[in-house]
Amino acid sequence: MDYNVNNEGFYGEFGGAYIPEILYSNVENLKNNYLRIIDDDDFKVEFDSLMRDYVGRPSPLYFAKRLSDKYRTRIYLKREDLNHTGAHKINNTVGQILLAQRMGKTRIIAETGAGQHGLATATVCALKGLKCIVYMGETDVARQQLNVRKMKMLGAEVRPVSSGNKTLKDATNEAIRDWCCNPSDTHYIIGSTVGPHPYPDMVTRFQSIISKEIKSQLSEKEGRNYPDYLIACVGGGSNAAGSFYHYLNDTRVKLIGVEAAGLGIDTGKTAATIHLGKRGIIHGSRTFVMQDEDGQITEPYSVSAGLDYPGIGPVHANLFVTQRAEYLAVTDGEALDAALELTQLEGIIPALESSHALAVFGKKKFKPDDVIVLTLSGRGDKDMEILDC
Ligand SMILES: *Cc1c(COP(=O)(O)O)cnc(C)c1O
Repeated sequence: MDYNVNNEGFYGEFGGAYIPEILYSNVENLKNNYLRIIDDDDFKVEFDSLMRDYVGRPSPLYFAKRLSDKYRTRIYLKREDLNHTGAHKINNTVGQILLAQRMGKTRIIAETGAGQHGLATATVCALKGLKCIVYMGETDVARQQLNVRKMKMLGAEVRPVSSGNKTLKDATNEAIRDWCCNPSDTHYIIGSTVGPHPYPDMVTRFQSIISKEIKSQLSEKEGRNYPDYLIACVGGGSNAAGSFYHYLNDTRVKLIGVEAAGLGIDTGKTAATIHLGKRGIIHGSRTFVMQDEDGQITEPYSVSAGLDYPGIGPVHANLFVTQRAEYLAVTDGEALDAALELTQLEGIIPALESSHALAVFGKKKFKPDDVIVLTLSGRGDKDMEILDC
């Protein structure tokens, strides 16, 4: 079985490009050019050098000794929290800004939830001197003030969105609307493995640097280039997809994705899309969607703004139905406990999103000689208001 996207843009039955007519030529243009551009030598040289000298890659693979002792297993953390701007999002925005430039685009739009993707987009727009507009739900604007201030300082315009429950889904709707009105000069930098084909595949490729590095770092530290388990949190699914990419067809490696249960998957206040979602279409992609009986998208909830999304990348929908990966749901409370635990055992303050992945150790038993790599997708600075109480 091949778990990658096929020529039509599908992962099994999921994915595709369900878009309004007006966006057709933009998406088609991207689809016809992205592979050629990112395989180009000139692109590779610039991408690699920015990854190294600007983002600070390779990110370390850190053996977490005290955490490993506590859970009687062997835990490595892939330190995406140490990247410039504090999360994995920058890997993708660097890739997409280089792509946008090569496609002659001059105006960049983005949606953001926690603000990490908006921040990473505003950052690369400053780097390249391109105009940047970031759509962000009003709820998220209020709970992620630090990132809003950074985006503004970087020269981006932050447009608050007041529809729906004023979070990521609503910001995404507005960004798509903007793209419809400005199809020729604008590139839409989507921040996760969601949206119409080719976005899920394109974002996965830019994030796949995570598993490429894990391979060589594990060889060095363990004498073999694969772990027994990979664990990552899943919002739209990009840090997980990047962590899984080079191991997708290596079934010695068990894959675990962790989604946000919010107050609990049965409480109605949740973002556990894999557990609760039904097949549907969201933001141009056929996948699992949290929806009511009439097919109306239901409002997701998580303490973590980066996981508060009612859809899931089509690659993960397929990994779930084929049982290639296992998906667990972690509550707000479990994630907060795991954040405090990592902080006090290892001296690392994790993002709330990443804390959901860390909570797996309290829910699932591993063997003493299992080698586990957990992707620490981001750092906790942006979440201090919530973490520190
Ligand atoms: C955005 C974000 C996530 C969730 O996005 P994915 O696309 O699922 O990776 C996870 N962790 C952090 C730190 C984020 O900023």
